[in-house]
Amino acid sequence: MKNIALLGSTGSIGTQTLDVVSHLEGFFKIRSLAAGKNIALLSEQAEKFSPERISVADEKDAKMLRKKFLDVEIFSGEEGLCKLASDDDVDIVVNAVVGAAGLVPSLCAIEKGKRLCTANKESLVMAGELLTSLARKTGAEIFPIDSEHSALWQAMLSGEKSEIKRLILTASGGPFFKKNVDFEKITPQDALKHPNWSMGKKITIDSATMMNKTLEIIEAHWLFNIPPEKIDVLIHPQSIVHSIVEFVDGSQIAQMSIPDMRLPIQYALTYPRRYPSSVGTLELWRNAKLEFFKPDMEEFPALKLAYRVLKLGGTAPAILNAANEVAVSAFLEEKIAFNHIFKIVESAIEDVKPEPADSIEKILMANEVAKKYALEKIMSVEQG
Ligand code: NDP
Repeated sequence: MKNIALLGSTGSIGTQTLDVVSHLEGFFKIRSLAAGKNIALLSEQAEKFSPERISVADEKDAKMLRKKFLDVEIFSGEEGLCKLASDDDVDIVVNAVVGAAGLVPSLCAIEKGKRLCTANKESLVMAGELLTSLARKTGAEIFPIDSEHSALWQAMLSGEKSEIKRLILTASGGPFFKKNVDFEKITPQDALKHPNWSMGKKITIDSATMMNKTLEIIEAHWLFNIPPEKIDVLIHPQSIVHSIVEFVDGSQIAQMSIPDMRLPIQYALTYPRRYPSSVGTLELWRNAKLEFFKPDMEEFPALKLAYRVLKLGGTAPAILNAANEVAVSAFLEEKIAFNHIFKIVESAIEDVKPEPADSIEKILMANEVAKKYALEKIMSVEQG
Protein backbone atom coordinates (compact mmCIF):
# COMPACT_ATOMS: atom_id res chain seq x y z
CA MET A 1 0.00 0.00 0.00
CA LYS A 2 1.64 3.25 -1.19
CA ASN A 3 0.75 6.62 0.32
CA ILE A 4 -0.20 9.37 -2.11
CA ALA A 5 -0.16 13.15 -1.72
CA LEU A 6 -2.60 14.44 -4.34
CA LEU A 7 -2.10 18.12 -5.13
CA GLY A 8 -4.86 19.71 -7.20
CA SER A 9 -7.43 17.08 -6.19
CA THR A 10 -10.46 19.13 -7.25
CA GLY A 11 -9.39 19.59 -10.89
CA SER A 12 -9.79 17.44 -13.98
CA ILE A 13 -6.60 15.40 -13.39
CA GLY A 14 -7.11 15.39 -9.60
CA THR A 15 -10.62 13.90 -9.77
CA GLN A 16 -9.50 11.33 -12.35
CA THR A 17 -6.59 10.36 -10.07
CA LEU A 18 -9.11 9.65 -7.33
CA ASP A 19 -11.08 7.50 -9.82
CA VAL A 20 -7.91 5.48 -10.48
CA VAL A 21 -7.20 5.12 -6.75
CA SER A 22 -10.79 3.91 -6.18
CA HIS A 23 -10.49 1.49 -9.09
CA LEU A 24 -7.21 0.02 -7.77
CA GLU A 25 -8.61 -0.50 -4.29
CA GLY A 26 -6.03 -1.76 -1.80
CA PHE A 27 -2.99 -0.48 -3.74
CA PHE A 28 -2.95 3.15 -2.64
CA LYS A 29 -3.93 5.26 0.34
CA ILE A 30 -4.67 8.98 -0.03
CA ARG A 31 -2.48 10.41 2.71
CA SER A 32 -3.15 14.02 1.76
CA LEU A 33 -5.24 16.24 -0.50
CA ALA A 34 -4.54 19.78 -1.68
CA ALA A 35 -6.79 22.11 -3.63
CA GLY A 36 -7.22 25.79 -4.39
CA LYS A 37 -10.64 27.28 -3.72
CA ASN A 38 -13.20 24.54 -4.39
CA ILE A 39 -13.77 23.80 -0.72
CA ALA A 40 -17.12 22.04 -1.24
CA LEU A 41 -15.64 19.37 -3.52
CA LEU A 42 -12.49 19.09 -1.39
CA SER A 43 -14.67 18.44 1.69
CA GLU A 44 -16.57 15.71 -0.15
CA GLN A 45 -13.28 14.11 -1.19
CA ALA A 46 -11.96 14.32 2.37
CA GLU A 47 -15.05 12.56 3.69
CA LYS A 48 -14.67 9.78 1.13
CA PHE A 49 -10.87 9.26 1.24
CA SER A 50 -10.10 10.21 4.89
CA PRO A 51 -6.74 11.95 4.35
CA GLU A 52 -4.56 12.80 7.34
CA ARG A 53 -3.48 16.12 5.84
CA ILE A 54 -5.17 18.78 3.72
CA SER A 55 -3.91 22.01 2.20
CA VAL A 56 -5.86 24.85 0.57
CA ALA A 57 -4.81 28.07 -1.16
CA ASP A 58 -6.20 30.51 1.43
CA GLU A 59 -5.69 30.55 5.20
CA LYS A 60 -9.31 31.63 5.78
CA ASP A 61 -10.54 28.40 4.14
CA ALA A 62 -7.99 26.44 6.19
CA LYS A 63 -9.41 27.95 9.42
CA MET A 64 -12.91 26.90 8.44
CA LEU A 65 -11.77 23.36 7.55
CA ARG A 66 -9.94 22.97 10.88
CA LYS A 67 -13.32 23.32 12.63
CA LYS A 68 -14.90 20.73 10.32
CA PHE A 69 -12.15 18.07 10.17
CA LEU A 70 -10.88 17.89 13.74
CA ASP A 71 -8.52 14.93 13.24
CA VAL A 72 -6.92 16.27 10.04
CA GLU A 73 -3.85 18.52 9.89
CA ILE A 74 -4.82 21.51 7.74
CA PHE A 75 -2.32 23.78 6.00
CA SER A 76 -2.52 26.62 3.51
CA GLY A 77 -0.65 28.38 0.71
CA GLU A 78 2.58 27.40 -0.98
CA GLU A 79 4.01 26.28 2.34
CA GLY A 80 1.10 23.87 2.75
CA LEU A 81 1.65 22.38 -0.72
CA CYS A 82 5.34 21.89 0.10
CA LYS A 83 4.52 20.27 3.48
CA LEU A 84 2.29 17.72 1.75
CA ALA A 85 4.83 17.06 -1.03
CA SER A 86 7.77 16.53 1.34
CA ASP A 87 5.91 14.51 4.00
CA ASP A 88 8.06 11.55 5.18
CA ASP A 89 4.99 9.29 5.10
CA VAL A 90 4.30 9.95 1.42
CA ASP A 91 5.65 7.64 -1.32
CA ILE A 92 4.07 9.24 -4.39
CA VAL A 93 3.29 12.89 -5.05
CA VAL A 94 0.77 13.55 -7.82
CA ASN A 95 1.10 17.14 -8.97
CA ALA A 96 -2.15 18.08 -10.68
CA VAL A 97 -2.04 21.77 -9.76
CA VAL A 98 -2.43 24.09 -12.74
CA GLY A 99 0.19 26.67 -13.65
CA ALA A 100 3.26 28.11 -11.97
CA ALA A 101 1.77 27.32 -8.53
CA GLY A 102 2.91 23.74 -9.20
CA LEU A 103 6.61 24.60 -9.24
CA VAL A 104 7.43 24.78 -5.54
CA PRO A 105 5.64 21.53 -4.63
CA SER A 106 7.46 19.73 -7.48
CA LEU A 107 10.74 20.99 -6.06
CA CYS A 108 9.78 19.91 -2.52
CA ALA A 109 8.88 16.39 -3.72
CA ILE A 110 12.11 16.03 -5.69
CA GLU A 111 14.25 17.32 -2.81
CA LYS A 112 12.84 14.49 -0.71
CA GLY A 113 13.50 11.85 -3.41
CA LYS A 114 9.84 10.99 -3.98
CA ARG A 115 8.15 9.50 -7.02
CA LEU A 116 6.68 12.63 -8.59
CA CYS A 117 3.87 11.86 -11.04
CA THR A 118 3.38 15.19 -12.69
CA ALA A 119 0.59 16.51 -14.84
CA ASN A 120 1.83 20.00 -14.02
CA LYS A 121 3.91 20.64 -17.14
CA GLU A 122 4.44 24.28 -16.19
CA SER A 123 6.95 23.36 -13.45
CA LEU A 124 9.08 21.45 -15.98
CA VAL A 125 8.81 24.30 -18.48
CA MET A 126 9.91 26.86 -15.90
CA ALA A 127 12.63 24.87 -14.19
CA GLY A 128 13.28 21.72 -16.21
CA GLU A 129 17.03 21.76 -15.88
CA LEU A 130 17.00 22.49 -12.17
CA LEU A 131 14.35 19.86 -11.35
CA THR A 132 15.82 17.06 -13.46
CA SER A 133 19.38 17.61 -12.23
CA LEU A 134 18.14 17.70 -8.63
CA ALA A 135 16.22 14.45 -9.22
CA ARG A 136 19.42 12.76 -10.40
CA LYS A 137 21.03 13.73 -7.08
CA THR A 138 18.17 12.79 -4.75
CA GLY A 139 17.03 9.68 -6.66
CA ALA A 140 13.55 11.13 -7.18
CA GLU A 141 11.58 9.69 -10.10
CA ILE A 142 9.77 12.16 -12.34
CA PHE A 143 7.01 10.35 -14.23
CA PRO A 144 4.82 12.17 -16.74
CA ILE A 145 1.04 12.12 -16.63
CA ASP A 146 0.68 14.20 -19.78
CA SER A 147 -0.62 11.63 -22.29
CA GLU A 148 1.97 12.50 -24.97
CA HIS A 149 4.90 12.20 -22.59
CA SER A 150 3.51 9.04 -21.07
CA ALA A 151 3.34 7.65 -24.63
CA LEU A 152 6.95 8.65 -25.33
CA TRP A 153 8.07 7.13 -22.04
CA GLN A 154 6.27 3.85 -22.78
CA ALA A 155 7.61 3.70 -26.35
CA MET A 156 11.14 4.44 -25.15
CA LEU A 157 11.16 1.43 -22.84
CA SER A 158 11.79 -0.72 -25.90
CA GLY A 159 15.13 0.83 -26.92
CA GLU A 160 18.29 2.54 -25.76
CA LYS A 161 18.30 6.31 -25.30
CA SER A 162 21.28 6.63 -27.64
CA GLU A 163 19.28 4.84 -30.35
CA ILE A 164 16.51 7.44 -30.46
CA LYS A 165 16.42 9.46 -33.66
CA ARG A 166 13.51 11.75 -32.79
CA LEU A 167 10.42 12.19 -30.68
CA ILE A 168 7.14 12.93 -32.44
CA LEU A 169 4.57 14.62 -30.24
CA THR A 170 1.05 14.30 -31.58
CA ALA A 171 -1.41 17.18 -31.27
CA SER A 172 -5.14 17.17 -31.93
CA GLY A 173 -4.91 20.63 -33.47
CA GLY A 174 -7.60 21.90 -31.07
CA PRO A 175 -11.09 23.13 -31.95
CA PHE A 176 -9.99 25.44 -34.80
CA PHE A 177 -7.82 23.11 -36.86
CA LYS A 178 -8.88 23.27 -40.55
CA LYS A 179 -11.77 25.57 -39.60
CA ASN A 180 -11.92 28.84 -41.36
CA VAL A 181 -12.35 31.06 -38.30
CA ASP A 182 -11.67 34.71 -37.62
CA PHE A 183 -9.21 34.48 -34.70
CA GLU A 184 -10.10 38.02 -33.60
CA LYS A 185 -13.71 36.95 -32.97
CA ILE A 186 -13.18 33.66 -31.08
CA THR A 187 -14.94 33.73 -27.69
CA PRO A 188 -13.86 31.79 -24.56
CA GLN A 189 -16.93 29.55 -25.08
CA ASP A 190 -15.72 28.65 -28.62
CA ALA A 191 -12.16 27.98 -27.45
CA LEU A 192 -13.28 25.88 -24.47
CA LYS A 193 -14.87 23.26 -26.77
CA HIS A 194 -12.02 20.77 -27.17
CA PRO A 195 -12.87 18.07 -29.75
CA ASN A 196 -11.44 15.05 -27.83
CA TRP A 197 -10.59 15.84 -24.21
CA SER A 198 -12.48 17.30 -21.26
CA MET A 199 -9.87 19.26 -19.29
CA GLY A 200 -9.39 22.29 -17.07
CA LYS A 201 -9.89 25.71 -18.65
CA LYS A 202 -6.24 26.76 -18.88
CA ILE A 203 -5.02 23.68 -20.76
CA THR A 204 -8.09 23.77 -23.03
CA ILE A 205 -7.22 27.32 -24.13
CA ASP A 206 -3.55 26.28 -24.45
CA SER A 207 -4.69 23.48 -26.79
CA ALA A 208 -6.67 25.93 -28.91
CA THR A 209 -3.68 28.30 -29.31
CA MET A 210 -1.27 25.32 -29.64
CA MET A 211 0.71 26.83 -26.77
CA ASN A 212 0.05 23.50 -25.03
CA LYS A 213 2.27 21.78 -27.62
CA THR A 214 4.87 24.52 -27.16
CA LEU A 215 4.93 23.75 -23.43
CA GLU A 216 5.06 20.03 -24.23
CA ILE A 217 8.10 20.35 -26.51
CA ILE A 218 9.94 22.04 -23.63
CA GLU A 219 8.63 19.45 -21.17
CA ALA A 220 9.82 16.58 -23.42
CA HIS A 221 13.24 18.17 -23.86
CA TRP A 222 13.85 18.21 -20.09
CA LEU A 223 12.11 14.96 -19.18
CA PHE A 224 13.92 12.85 -21.77
CA ASN A 225 17.10 14.91 -22.26
CA ILE A 226 16.55 15.06 -26.03
CA PRO A 227 17.71 18.14 -27.98
CA PRO A 228 14.89 20.36 -29.29
CA GLU A 229 15.82 19.78 -32.95
CA LYS A 230 15.02 16.09 -32.43
CA ILE A 231 11.48 16.85 -31.23
CA ASP A 232 8.77 17.15 -33.90
CA VAL A 233 5.03 17.75 -33.80
CA LEU A 234 2.43 15.91 -35.88
CA ILE A 235 -1.23 16.91 -36.05
CA HIS A 236 -3.46 13.91 -35.37
CA PRO A 237 -7.07 15.07 -34.89
CA GLN A 238 -8.39 11.76 -33.47
CA SER A 239 -6.03 11.68 -30.41
CA ILE A 240 -5.64 7.89 -30.61
CA VAL A 241 -1.88 7.80 -31.25
CA HIS A 242 -0.58 9.66 -28.22
CA SER A 243 3.00 10.12 -29.48
CA ILE A 244 5.76 8.28 -31.31
CA VAL A 245 9.44 7.51 -30.79
CA GLU A 246 11.55 7.00 -33.90
CA PHE A 247 14.71 4.95 -33.52
CA VAL A 248 17.91 5.18 -35.60
CA ASP A 249 16.96 2.11 -37.64
CA GLY A 250 13.82 3.88 -38.88
CA SER A 251 11.42 1.97 -36.65
CA GLN A 252 8.69 4.13 -35.10
CA ILE A 253 7.01 2.94 -31.92
CA ALA A 254 3.72 4.59 -31.01
CA GLN A 255 1.47 4.21 -28.01
CA MET A 256 -2.27 4.14 -28.68
CA SER A 257 -5.43 4.04 -26.62
CA ILE A 258 -8.79 5.70 -26.52
CA PRO A 259 -8.24 9.23 -25.19
CA ASP A 260 -8.71 8.90 -21.43
CA MET A 261 -6.34 10.47 -18.91
CA ARG A 262 -6.97 7.73 -16.36
CA LEU A 263 -4.62 5.52 -18.36
CA PRO A 264 -1.46 7.68 -18.14
CA ILE A 265 -2.34 8.53 -14.52
CA GLN A 266 -2.56 4.83 -13.64
CA TYR A 267 0.67 3.96 -15.46
CA ALA A 268 2.62 6.65 -13.60
CA LEU A 269 1.25 5.36 -10.28
CA THR A 270 1.81 1.65 -10.89
CA TYR A 271 5.01 1.68 -13.03
CA PRO A 272 6.71 -0.73 -13.71
CA ARG A 273 3.60 -2.89 -13.39
CA ARG A 274 0.43 -2.74 -15.48
CA TYR A 275 -2.99 -3.58 -14.10
CA PRO A 276 -6.46 -3.76 -15.69
CA SER A 277 -7.88 -0.25 -15.88
CA SER A 278 -11.35 1.20 -16.11
CA VAL A 279 -10.47 2.65 -19.53
CA GLY A 280 -12.34 1.13 -22.45
CA THR A 281 -10.68 -1.03 -25.10
CA LEU A 282 -9.51 0.57 -28.31
CA GLU A 283 -11.09 -1.15 -31.31
CA LEU A 284 -9.23 0.21 -34.29
CA TRP A 285 -11.90 -0.89 -36.75
CA ARG A 286 -14.23 1.55 -35.00
CA ASN A 287 -11.69 4.34 -35.35
CA ALA A 288 -10.67 3.34 -38.86
CA LYS A 289 -9.85 6.90 -39.79
CA LEU A 290 -6.56 7.93 -38.28
CA GLU A 291 -5.28 11.11 -39.93
CA PHE A 292 -1.94 12.86 -39.66
CA PHE A 293 -0.92 16.32 -40.89
CA LYS A 294 2.30 18.27 -40.84
CA PRO A 295 1.76 21.36 -38.67
CA ASP A 296 1.78 24.63 -40.52
CA MET A 297 4.09 26.95 -38.56
CA GLU A 298 2.27 29.97 -40.03
CA GLU A 299 -1.10 28.68 -38.83
CA PHE A 300 0.35 27.69 -35.43
CA PRO A 301 3.15 30.24 -34.81
CA ALA A 302 3.18 29.33 -31.09
CA LEU A 303 5.12 26.15 -31.93
CA LYS A 304 8.14 28.15 -33.08
CA LEU A 305 8.36 29.76 -29.66
CA ALA A 306 9.34 26.46 -28.01
CA TYR A 307 12.51 26.16 -30.09
CA ARG A 308 13.18 29.88 -29.67
CA VAL A 309 13.04 29.91 -25.85
CA LEU A 310 15.06 26.69 -25.57
CA LYS A 311 17.72 28.34 -27.71
CA LEU A 312 17.64 31.51 -25.60
CA GLY A 313 17.97 29.30 -22.51
CA GLY A 314 17.99 30.37 -18.84
CA THR A 315 14.69 31.78 -17.66
CA ALA A 316 13.29 32.29 -21.21
CA PRO A 317 10.88 29.30 -20.92
CA ALA A 318 9.68 30.63 -17.52
CA ILE A 319 9.04 34.01 -19.19
CA LEU A 320 7.00 32.31 -21.93
CA ASN A 321 5.03 30.37 -19.34
CA ALA A 322 4.25 33.38 -17.14
CA ALA A 323 3.16 35.60 -20.04
CA ASN A 324 0.96 32.79 -21.34
CA GLU A 325 -0.73 32.21 -17.97
CA VAL A 326 -1.57 35.89 -17.62
CA ALA A 327 -2.75 36.19 -21.24
CA VAL A 328 -4.96 33.08 -20.98
CA SER A 329 -6.63 34.45 -17.81
CA ALA A 330 -7.21 37.78 -19.53
CA PHE A 331 -8.76 36.02 -22.55
CA LEU A 332 -11.03 33.96 -20.28
CA GLU A 333 -12.09 37.22 -18.58
CA GLU A 334 -12.80 38.65 -22.07
CA LYS A 335 -10.21 41.41 -21.64
CA ILE A 336 -8.24 40.48 -24.77
CA ALA A 337 -8.96 38.75 -28.07
CA PHE A 338 -7.87 35.15 -28.72
CA ASN A 339 -5.08 36.15 -31.12
CA HIS A 340 -3.62 38.56 -28.53
CA ILE A 341 -2.53 35.61 -26.38
CA PHE A 342 0.22 34.72 -28.85
CA LYS A 343 1.17 38.37 -29.39
CA ILE A 344 1.59 39.00 -25.65
CA VAL A 345 3.70 35.86 -25.18
CA GLU A 346 5.83 36.66 -28.21
CA SER A 347 6.51 40.23 -27.07
CA ALA A 348 7.36 39.07 -23.52
CA ILE A 349 10.01 36.77 -25.02
CA GLU A 350 11.24 39.68 -27.13
CA ASP A 351 11.35 42.28 -24.34
CA VAL A 352 12.01 40.51 -21.01
CA LYS A 353 15.66 39.64 -20.69
CA PRO A 354 16.32 36.02 -19.65
CA GLU A 355 18.73 35.34 -16.77
CA PRO A 356 20.55 32.10 -15.95
CA ALA A 357 18.01 29.67 -14.45
CA ASP A 358 20.40 28.36 -11.80
CA SER A 359 18.25 28.88 -8.72
CA ILE A 360 14.59 28.62 -7.88
CA GLU A 361 14.65 32.25 -6.70
CA LYS A 362 15.80 33.47 -10.12
CA ILE A 363 13.12 31.41 -11.85
CA LEU A 364 10.39 32.71 -9.54
CA MET A 365 11.68 36.25 -10.08
CA ALA A 366 11.51 35.80 -13.88
CA ASN A 367 7.95 34.52 -13.41
CA GLU A 368 6.99 37.68 -11.51
CA VAL A 369 8.73 40.05 -13.95
CA ALA A 370 7.10 38.42 -17.00
CA LYS A 371 3.67 38.40 -15.30
CA LYS A 372 3.99 42.13 -14.60
CA TYR A 373 5.10 42.76 -18.18
CA ALA A 374 2.13 40.80 -19.56
CA LEU A 375 -0.35 42.57 -17.26
CA GLU A 376 0.93 45.95 -18.48
CA LYS A 377 0.57 44.81 -22.10
CA ILE A 378 -3.00 43.72 -21.39
CA MET A 379 -3.80 47.10 -19.84
CA SER A 380 -2.47 48.83 -22.94
CA VAL A 381 -4.61 46.55 -25.16
CA GLU A 382 -7.68 47.38 -23.00
CA GLN A 383 -6.98 51.10 -23.18
CA GLY A 384 -6.16 50.96 -26.89
P1 NDP B 1 -7.97 22.18 -13.48
O1 NDP B 1 -8.13 23.63 -13.66
O2 NDP B 1 -9.12 21.29 -13.77
O3 NDP B 1 -7.49 21.89 -11.98
C1 NDP B 1 -6.46 22.59 -11.38
C2 NDP B 1 -6.28 22.17 -9.94
O4 NDP B 1 -5.26 22.98 -9.34
C3 NDP B 1 -7.54 22.37 -9.09
O5 NDP B 1 -7.62 21.34 -8.15
C4 NDP B 1 -7.27 23.72 -8.41
O6 NDP B 1 -7.98 23.89 -7.21
C5 NDP B 1 -5.78 23.53 -8.12
N1 NDP B 1 -5.09 24.77 -7.82
C6 NDP B 1 -5.00 25.88 -8.57
N2 NDP B 1 -4.25 26.81 -7.96
C7 NDP B 1 -3.86 26.26 -6.78
C8 NDP B 1 -3.09 26.73 -5.68
N3 NDP B 1 -2.56 27.95 -5.68
N4 NDP B 1 -2.89 25.88 -4.63
C9 NDP B 1 -3.44 24.65 -4.64
N5 NDP B 1 -4.17 24.15 -5.65
C10 NDP B 1 -4.38 24.96 -6.69
O7 NDP B 1 -6.70 21.77 -14.34
P2 NDP B 1 -6.36 20.36 -15.01
O8 NDP B 1 -6.62 19.24 -14.06
O9 NDP B 1 -6.92 20.31 -16.36
O10 NDP B 1 -4.77 20.52 -15.21
C11 NDP B 1 -3.86 20.39 -14.15
C12 NDP B 1 -2.46 20.27 -14.74
O11 NDP B 1 -2.40 19.09 -15.53
C13 NDP B 1 -2.11 21.43 -15.70
O12 NDP B 1 -0.75 21.72 -15.58
C14 NDP B 1 -2.40 20.85 -17.08
O13 NDP B 1 -1.60 21.43 -18.09
C15 NDP B 1 -2.02 19.38 -16.86
N6 NDP B 1 -2.67 18.44 -17.76
C16 NDP B 1 -4.02 18.30 -17.74
C17 NDP B 1 -4.67 17.41 -18.58
C18 NDP B 1 -6.14 17.20 -18.51
O14 NDP B 1 -6.65 16.30 -19.19
N7 NDP B 1 -6.88 17.95 -17.73
C19 NDP B 1 -3.89 16.62 -19.55
C20 NDP B 1 -2.47 16.80 -19.45
C21 NDP B 1 -1.90 17.68 -18.59
P3 NDP B 1 -9.48 24.56 -7.15
O15 NDP B 1 -10.22 24.08 -8.36
O16 NDP B 1 -9.98 23.98 -5.85
O17 NDP B 1 -9.31 26.04 -7.11
